[in-house]
Order: sequence, then structure tokens, then C-alpha cells
Amino acid sequence: MKPLKLRTKLTLFYAASITLLLFVAGALFYNLLSYQLDRDLRDELQERTAGLRGYLRFEGNQATLVYDPTDPEEAFFVDTATRYYQIYDAVSGAMIVRSQQLQGLNFQYTPDEVRDLVRGSASFTGIETDQVDLLLHNDLVRAPNGRSYLLQVGTPLTLRKNALSRSLRIILWLLPSGILLAILSGWWIAGRVLRPLESLSAAAQQMSISQLHKRLPLTGTGDELDQLGNTFNDMFGRLEKAVGQMKDFTASISHELRTPLTVLRGEAEVALVRARTEEDYRRVLESQLEEFGKLSQMIDHMLTLARAEAGQIKLARDHVNLSDLAQSLVEQMETVAASKTITLAAKPDGEVIVIGDSGWLERVILNLLDNAIKFTPEGGRVEVSVRSLPGEAVLEVRDSGIGISTQALPHIFEPFYRGDPCRSREFDGAGLGLSLVEWIVKEHQGRISVESQPEHESVFRVAIPLAPANTQPI
Ligand code: ADP
Repeated sequence: MKPLKLRTKLTLFYAASITLLLFVAGALFYNLLSYQLDRDLRDELQERTAGLRGYLRFEGNQATLVYDPTDPEEAFFVDTATRYYQIYDAVSGAMIVRSQQLQGLNFQYTPDEVRDLVRGSASFTGIETDQVDLLLHNDLVRAPNGRSYLLQVGTPLTLRKNALSRSLRIILWLLPSGILLAILSGWWIAGRVLRPLESLSAAAQQMSISQLHKRLPLTGTGDELDQLGNTFNDMFGRLEKAVGQMKDFTASISHELRTPLTVLRGEAEVALVRARTEEDYRRVLESQLEEFGKLSQMIDHMLTLARAEAGQIKLARDHVNLSDLAQSLVEQMETVAASKTITLAAKPDGEVIVIGDSGWLERVILNLLDNAIKFTPEGGRVEVSVRSLPGEAVLEVRDSGIGISTQALPHIFEPFYRGDPCRSREFDGAGLGLSLVEWIVKEHQGRISVESQPEHESVFRVAIPLAPANTQPI
């Protein structure tokens, strides 16, 4: 089944709510009216009965009405009250008197029924006859002659019934009209509410990768739809940035690959220009091998970075002693440093345990050490220290190298970024090392910062949360 449109759903929901409300209101009104009419009737009957008692005189099996027929008010009252009335002897159940209207109706109590009524507590009795339905008020009268009588004063229920059935008819007419009105107004309201959403969706549909700089129009009211538009705009902003980064990345990759390929091609072309000795060819091939090595290292870096960004790399969570790790890597790099007459020193500070992946942490230290040695002139000094501060382990790689200019400093962690002096082919590297270092540090819930005095020194500082004491690795 085709799913209903939001406008239809809203309309149906609105119409159903209004219908329910109308039904409840109609039922409530009908019941209240019925209750009120009933109460009025009963009050009136009680008043009539009480009034009539004052005009009644009992003598044996006789009851007479004593009133002043010349008094119009009195005459009217007695006339109205005695239209439907009857009196029975409460003990024998014999009928004493009965109004003409009641005589015309086809009902009469048996003596037992009369006694039941006298004994019972019901002050009102309903009578249904072929001609008319009546409500009778039962009143036990103790006459001065010592006898008791059952006085019943009644009134027809016709008016009440007519009023109720007329109200019911009106309600039943009003209900469908109300429901129709609810559907129409619901459709209209839903249309109005959804119109800005439709224009948002139309604007969003027109967005494409080439138009990510565009933003959805906002009304500025700050309502929910504006918030939705804002959310979309934020998302477009992030998409624009991500797509921009991807474009930069692709451009940088092409650029980085083109340079070594051009070098390789140039070398091969020069070698082929004329015949050379075996020694010459060997030299060219050796140089090319070196270039291939750099190329494959760069591609390896790029792949690692791409897999890392795509969340495809899972890091281990072991206890790693950062001091030991730094110490052993410093020993490993000593020959490289010595070849440049650089003094490489480690300043470990006892056991500094973090939770993480020793392989990847090793890559962090090696990358930082490699950079430090690479960017430090001969005779310089590189120092690695590890210490524990409250809650975190801090690894510092300090070098007395060429430093990083203030313009370059904010960019060195961007992929493919290389500072000015390093663009020359004198320094290896594609500018991917620090991006990977930053990713690894972040994966360890840590942070990396750098301070530098151009021409003097650079300090790379990595802070990683210390392993909680007695924590078992996960
Ligand atoms: P690369 O592999 O080219 O060294 P990195 O991402 O490791 O790339 O470093 C990016 C840039 O940061 C380098 O080109 C260099 O300009 C600067 N840099 C990194 N480490 C140092 C350092 N210890 N001293 C001076 N400059 C540095």
C-alpha cells in the first residue's frame, strides 16, 4: 500500500481528534440536558404534590379539594396539579379518587401494588401507557382522621421526550457537518504548516555537489522549520568542507605523484639519449630504485591515512609503557642520528603506562623522531622525554633544528603540507607523516601540540591519558 502523504496524515489525525471531541461534547450535552429536564420535572412535581396536600381534606373513603375557585392563581394551580392525580388508601389499596385524564388511561394499581408503593422508598414512578408516558410523584399523606393515603401527582413526559429527540436530531445533523468542516480546515491548516517544508525540500533537491556553497532560505523566525533549515545548512557546510578537503587531497596526490614520476621519466630519457657504460646504467637504476622506494612509501602512507579516515583501522587496547617504547626507539634511531652527527638523547621518567596500541604509538614516536633528525642540521641535538602528569602521559620530542615558521605552524598537520624549506627535494617526505601522527594520537584520546622558535628549535608534545591504576586492558 502506498504510504499516506504527511498532509493527508495530519488532516486525518486532526479530523479524527475533532470528531472524537464532537462526539464527546454531543454525548455530554445530551446527557446533561436529559438530566436537567428530569430534575426540573421532579422539582415541579414535588412542588405540585406539596401544594395539593394543602387543599385536600380526607373523610373516610372520601377526599375532597377545598380551595377558592374565584382566586385565579389558586384555581390555576389546583387545575394543573390535579390533571394527573390519584389517591389510594394506603392500607387497603382501594382507590379513593382519580382525575379524569388518568381514568382515560388503561392502567390501575392492584391493592398489592399500592401497598408495595407505600412500603417502597421510590418517590417517583414512571408509567408507560399506550396514549402517554407519565412520571408520578408518590407521597404518603397521614390525614387527621388517622388514616394514610397514597397521593400520586403526575405529569406527561411528552415535552421532555420531544425536547430530547429534537436535541438529538440537531446533534446528529451537526456531527457530520462538524466532521466535514474539520476535514476541510485540517487540510487547509496542514497545507499551510507544510508549505515552508515543501519549499525547504524543493530548495534542498536543487542542491548538488557543485552547488554546496548555496544555503537553504530561512524565514528568520527561529521556529522548528528554521531550525531544520539551519541543521541542513550546517550539514551542507560540513559537506562542502569535506568535499573541498577531498578535492584538495586528490589534487595533492596527483601533484605528489607527478613530481617523482617526472624525475623517473627524465632520468630514463637522459639515460637513453646515448649509449652508456654498464656502470652508468647501474647508477640510473639505483637512483630510480630509491625514487620507487619513496613512491611506494608515500602510497603506503596515503593508503594508511585513507583507511584511518574511513574508520577501517582498529587499534589494540593494551597496557603500553611509553618510557620503554621511547627508550628502545631512540636506541634504534641512534645510528641514523649519528650519521648526521646529531646527539640523540632519551629522558625517560620511570614507568609511564597508557592504554593503546604499541605498534601505532611506535609510529608516532618514529615519525616525530624522523622529522626531528631530518630538520636538524648537523651537530644538533634531539631529545625525547616521557613523564607522567596528573592523569596524563606526556611525550616530548625536542630538536635544535630549523624550526617552523609562524605561517606554517597551523598547517603542518594537514595532509600533504610541507613547510617552505622542505618543498625542495633535499628533504624526503610527502607531508603525510604528521597527519597520521595526529590521527593516532586522537584515536588514543590524546592531543598533540607544537611549539617552535624558527631557526632554533621545535618541540612536539603528545599528551595521552594515563592508564587508570589497576585497570585491565580490554
Ligand atoms: P614530511 O613527511 O614531509 O616530513 P610531515 O607531515 O611529517 O611531512 O611534516 C609536515 C611539515 O611539518 C614538514 O614538511 C616540515 O615543514 C614541518 N615539520 C615537521 N616536523 C618538523 C620539525 N621537527 N622541525 C621543523 N619542521 C618540521
